[in-house]
Amino acid sequence: MPPVGQPVKRPGPPGLLGRTYLPSILKGMWITLRHMFRPKVTMQYPEERWQVPENYRGLPALVRDDQGRVKCVACFLCEYVCPPKAIHIEAQEIDTGVEKGPRVFDINMLRCIMCGYCEEVCPEQAIFLTPEYTTVGLSRKEMIYDKERLLKMGGTRTDPIKKWSRLTRSGAQAPGMTGAGRDAAR
Ligand code: SF4
Ligand code: SF4
Repeated sequence: MPPVGQPVKRPGPPGLLGRTYLPSILKGMWITLRHMFRPKVTMQYPEERWQVPENYRGLPALVRDDQGRVKCVACFLCEYVCPPKAIHIEAQEIDTGVEKGPRVFDINMLRCIMCGYCEEVCPEQAIFLTPEYTTVGLSRKEMIYDKERLLKMGGTRTDPIKKWSRLTRSGAQAPGMTGAGRDAAR
């Protein structure tokens, strides 16, 4: 790069051969020929999928615990920290008496920047960034993933906290989500 303030050196007018464009054409063909024999790096997507590294941060998803319970307790922390405000939560009481749960849990994937803050901040390990990196849809509405879709994406994760199970053993509170609350919280 020329120093600041110095005029840029322009090439002079082409000679007789340059005006035929032959050197440029041959140079271009030589570059093409060289690349024809190099290993191909282009991936035939979507038939071929990129194998993401283990720590890849893709789309966020909600998870259930090993007993099929929705782990999110609608504490709103992830909604609060989410930089682009992609998360929308509405809470509801669930009939365990222990916690509340999400009635609505939407993530706008058009806004999500896959930063991982929601995963970092979640006290229940209820939201994780998955290796999924494709988000396609025909409308903006389709790109807002609701609770059911997020839970389907996230699947089940073994719960290292087991808070509700601990509470059961101590006899403080029955943890199982039953009846309408359970159905609604799922
Ligand atoms: S990954 Fe980041 S941007 Fe996406 S929902 Fe979580 S906090 Fe928001
Ligand atoms: S996903 Fe985690 S941080 Fe977000 S509301 Fe649920 S429990 Fe709170």
